[in-house]
This record gives sequence, C-alpha cells and structure tokens, in this order.
Amino acid sequence: MISEKITKDDPVKRGMLANVMRQFHHAADSIELNPNIRKILGITNNELVVHFPVKMDNGEVEVFTGYRVQHNNALGPYKGGLRYHPTVDLDAAKALAMWMTWKTALAGLPYGGAKGGIQIDPKKYSIAELERITRRFTYALGDNIGPELDIPAPDVNTNSQTMAWILDTFMSTKAPNERSTNLHVVTGKPLGAGGSEGRDRATGFGVFLCIKFWAKKEKVDLTGKTFIVQGFGNVGFWASYFLEKEGARLVAVQDVTGTYYNKGGISAVELNDYQKSVGSLEGFKNAQVVSNDDFFATDCDICIPAALGNQITLERAPKIKAKVIAEGANGPTDVAAEELLLERGITIIPDILCNSGGVIGSYFEWLQNRNGEIWTLEEVMEKLEKKLKTSFEKVMSVSQERGVDPRTAAFIIAIERLEQAYIQRGIFP
Ligand code: NAD
Repeated sequence: MISEKITKDDPVKRGMLANVMRQFHHAADSIELNPNIRKILGITNNELVVHFPVKMDNGEVEVFTGYRVQHNNALGPYKGGLRYHPTVDLDAAKALAMWMTWKTALAGLPYGGAKGGIQIDPKKYSIAELERITRRFTYALGDNIGPELDIPAPDVNTNSQTMAWILDTFMSTKAPNERSTNLHVVTGKPLGAGGSEGRDRATGFGVFLCIKFWAKKEKVDLTGKTFIVQGFGNVGFWASYFLEKEGARLVAVQDVTGTYYNKGGISAVELNDYQKSVGSLEGFKNAQVVSNDDFFATDCDICIPAALGNQITLERAPKIKAKVIAEGANGPTDVAAEELLLERGITIIPDILCNSGGVIGSYFEWLQNRNGEIWTLEEVMEKLEKKLKTSFEKVMSVSQERGVDPRTAAFIIAIERLEQAYIQRGIFP
C-alpha cells in the first residue's frame, strides 16, 4: 500500500500510475475501505498489448505498439479514450484506465473504466497512414472492444475522424445483419456517422460549468477574471470559448510549440481559427511568445491544465498565482504538488469531476445509438449541465461533511458506489 508522504526527489513515484494509486489509497484509508474490495480495485482487470504492421506511403512496413487496459467493469462496460502519443505505455494506460473507473462511478454512469492508445507521434505520419494505423489497430483489438463490452472515445491526438475509422473497421468485420447494432462501439463520432450533438464541446463545457459552479459557491463574479490554459486542443479550446462568453479573459496559453501571453486578452475563437489554418499556435501574432517556464507563474485567477499528466509538480506549484485550478486534463497535478497547493489555500477542482463532461456526453451518444434516438444540441447541453451540477454538489457536500479535500471527496463517492456493487453482488464463484 502506498500511503507515505512523497518527496520531490522520488522520481518513480512521480509517475501517473503512482499518482492515481496514492489518490485511491488515500481516499480508501479515509473510509476504511473493506480490504478485499481494496485488493480488487487496486488492480486492472485486463491489459492488452498489441503489435501490428502497417504499410507506409513509401512502401516500407512499420510495426506499431498499441495498448488497451480495462480496469474495472463492476458497474457496466469499460469506457475510456484512445491516445496517440509517444508517452503511451502500459503504466500510463493503467493509470488513465483507473481514473476512468472513478470518473464514471462518480458521474453515476453505468460504465467501468478503460484507456489505451498507440505509442506514436502522429505528426510524423500522413493522414492516409494514420487511417491505416487506426484501422489495423482496431483489427488487432478485435472483439476485446465492443458496444456492450468496452467503448473507446477520443483523447490526446485522436478525434471524431479517428472514431469514424474505428467504427467503420469494427462494423466491417461483423456479419451484415449485425453491423448497425455496433454503432455504439465508439463515442465521439462525427455527426454523420452516428455522433451526438454537443459531444465535441462536452468536456470543455463541463470544465467551464465546474468553474461557474465554484464561482457561484464562492460568490465570485467571472466577468473580468483572467485565466490561463495549458493545451489548446479539444478541451482547452472549448473551456476557453465558454469562459470567454461568460466575460473572463484568456491571458496565457501554452501548447506543444510554446507559451503565448497577452495581458489584454487573447480571443479563443481567433486563436482557434489560426490553429485550424496553421496546425498549431506557432506564429500567432496577437500574443507575445514567453518562456514555457513562465506559464504557471502567470498572474491570473483561474488555471486550466488541459494537456498531459504530471504538469503541476512540486517545482511549479509554488509559482501558481491562480485561486482555482480546474483540471481539464487527466492527472495534471501530482500528489506532492497538491499538498502544497491545498496548504496555500488554492482550490483544485479534480479531474474526475472537472473533465467528466466528456464521458457524460459520450454516455448520451451511446444511449442515442442504442435506442435509435437523435437529441438536439439544447437537450444534450441541458442534460449535461443537470448531471454535472449533481456531481459537483455531491463532491462539495462530502468534502465539507467529512472534512476532506474535493479530490478525496470525489474518490470516496466513486469508491463507495463500487463497494456497494461488490457487497451486493458478491464475488463469483
Ligand atoms: P488534444 O489532442 O485535442 O489537445 C492536446 C493539447 O495539448 C494540444 O494543444 C497540444 O499542443 C497540447 N500539448 C501536448 N503536449 C504538451 C506539452 N508538453 N506542453 C503543453 N501543451 C502540450 O487533446 P484533448 O482531447 O484536448 O485532451 C487534453 C487532456 O484532456 C488530456 O489529458 C485528456 O486525457 C483530457 N480529457 C480529454 C477528454 C476529451 O473528451 N477529449 C475528456 C476528458 C479528459
């Protein structure tokens, strides 16, 4: 069991897997979780590693490594994204799969947790190559995924197009009379291929809503408040878009190419249009390029990490000026940094709550596909807001009642839901 304090010079424990395990054990300790259930939840059910060959545009064959980790399915089919990034490995997939279990349990969804991806830098490949890589990866995963078994969705460097290729490949391997019953094998699809209105913005909208709920609770007016965003992809853009509409001002943004600052404000829509035309934020004229090291130290009210894990470390935490950190990314704050931030009185809206709008939106897409329904954008957004508000209020009230931080409160709610399932159902045989 990992429950001792960690120090900044303990590099192994700085990994995402150690981070999620510490968060889990910390919450489990605080509710004196049944030791048998702790054993079950502390491991991942299935870990699949696939190696598959793909023909490149130049005629050469390259072999890729893909992962899918299924953590727990006590509450329903496994659910979680697919990431294309050089840092994807078994430990990263395990950590991210565990976070998905807590996230779906907290949101009250009938899902478990999974995650996966390919260890690849997608920028090095053409669109045609990415399509073949995705299709061959789907084929390699075979019936280890499925609409009632394990349902992938987009994550870092994957998008609705990736999901459409997965769907098409998966359906093509089924008998003609079974094809349409597999439409919900992935979520986050394009609208024309069975996607849902609002799924594109669901995660960023959820991040924004959590900030709005926090502001209401703290009696803070968001008009004129400043925010910074790390990662200007799906989550970072949409969170910025909605915050800007609420009257807040984006003053610094960082992506993989660098950090861009403008005290007077950067228009999220203008920045996104620029990104769409150029492919990244590099060269954006209406902001000044500053050092990456300065990003987290930027003067602001709200900080939104929306890129990768372990970005807010013990070195960076003391520099943060924001009053609230809204975790758009999964696992952006390491445990040691969190302790320091809490001591400094900074509120952290934890990832499993803050970015859960994505999986809630995915659930709505899955339900529509399953039931042959098509909901309007207004219906989706309204249902999403209602569900997220319930989660937010539950987390805040458990945090207050039990005297724990919001992350521990969120974990407690999730773990207790799973504990009930195991107690009521028992262990087979
Ligand atoms: P994305 O691929 O659309 O965007 C990722 C962004 O992060 C890009 O702007 C990229 O340039 C930036 N980035 C990558 N490496 C960086 C680095 N080292 N420093 C600074 N910026 C860097 O991905 P996304 O879908 O927006 O996901 C972002 C985060 O949100 C991930 O942690 C993901 O797991 C989490 N998340 C995503 C969803 C979703 O629905 N897409 C749902 C829940 C959580």
